[in-house]
Amino acid sequence: MKQKLLPAILAQFGEASDRLGLSDEMRTLLRIPYRELKVEIPVRMDNGRLKVFIGYRVQHNGARGPYKGGVRYYPSLNLDEVRALAMLMTWKSAVVDIPFGGAKGGVCCDPKKMSSDELQRLTRAFISKIDLIIGPSRDIPAPDVNTNAQVMAWMMDEYGKHHGYTPAIVTGKPIELGGSLEREQATGRGCVFTAFEAAKLLGMKLEGARVAIQGFGKVGANAAQILEEAGCRVIAVSDSQGAVYQRNGLPVSKLLAHKKKSGTVVGFPGASAMTQEALLETECELLVPAALEGAITSKNARKIHARLIAEGANGPILPEVDPILEKRKIFVIPDILANAGGVVVSYFEWVQNFQHYAWEGQQVNRELQKVMARSFALVHSLAQKEKTTMRTAAYMIAIEKVARATDLRGL
Ligand code: NAD
Repeated sequence: MKQKLLPAILAQFGEASDRLGLSDEMRTLLRIPYRELKVEIPVRMDNGRLKVFIGYRVQHNGARGPYKGGVRYYPSLNLDEVRALAMLMTWKSAVVDIPFGGAKGGVCCDPKKMSSDELQRLTRAFISKIDLIIGPSRDIPAPDVNTNAQVMAWMMDEYGKHHGYTPAIVTGKPIELGGSLEREQATGRGCVFTAFEAAKLLGMKLEGARVAIQGFGKVGANAAQILEEAGCRVIAVSDSQGAVYQRNGLPVSKLLAHKKKSGTVVGFPGASAMTQEALLETECELLVPAALEGAITSKNARKIHARLIAEGANGPILPEVDPILEKRKIFVIPDILANAGGVVVSYFEWVQNFQHYAWEGQQVNRELQKVMARSFALVHSLAQKEKTTMRTAAYMIAIEKVARATDLRGL
């Protein structure tokens, strides 16, 4: 499924560029990543054997600010996936109007089969290999699939060995090392903010609404908790091992504790088991795909019952699916808007690091709410004006900003 992401994003880019009347020259400039680095990462494993991993960092566009984007650890990661995700980051930062460009990175590895010491050695070796292209005003990594605050702490420490104390080199760090309050919840919270904006628009009451969430990681689990606090019923949740369902709502904190203990949501006492596919087709008002790319295909799109979809993950809906959902009057909040909360609070973290001053959590959430509501309104108003989807409108806003910045810098 993943190999479809790059053509999908390029097709979306093409459609938005057509509407904007973007020149061929500018299209070429914006399609091709600025820089791609592939590195070999030799790691001495706990059993004494040397294993060689492959890592990537792709910097797509830095016209509006330093490159910014997560690092994922995933066995089947490939360069096209990283390219696609880097490009998405450029559009995401632009659509919410924060001064970052777009990048993405990752290592082909299965962290679930590695010890913490092995992961630390891998992370340090990766950072030392990409050291020449990153920097607090150049390219700032962050957590993504299978990486977390601990991984960011190792990255910061490794980078600091050669450059001195540099907390702004990564975001999503532990609070004790200069991380921002509320960063961990930010992607999920931003996603919820946009869902509430959409619900207002559709005249839907989210209080008491049924929610299904695919993926129970940093994005999905935090969205679940925030939605529950807001009065929604989180009736179905899945992870890589299966899915669980409870008609009256799953108690999210208890489900989190169960996942922490057993490593999965599967087997949660009192819940019924369901397949991962069935979760997407659950009768609910809000669906949050927060796992990996390509979850919603032209096959299952016709079986989706949700009224509203907020794309917590990057690229969970393949573009050929958008017209099906549109026809079925399912309102989609596109990834570059719905999950931008993470990069917005990463920006706040970066600003705090430069200021050497920590904001209060309430301030972070308040500022995030403002950015998400303002961006949602702008995208929706353009979608109305252009009589197009929220996705195309979001791309149009983003591409126009990046093209303008590129132009102003001079070719
Ligand atoms: P994560 O590793 O913390 O969580 C991923 C979750 O998805 C895990 O619970 C995993 O078990 C589950 N999963 C994997 N395969 C699945 C499947 N087939 N069916 C159901 N669940 C499955 O990762 P994350 O950081 O939460 O990222 C999730 C998505 O959100 C990715 O697309 C990522 O790029 C995107 N995203 C993350 C952030 C962030 O701040 N972490 C920001 C923006 C976008």
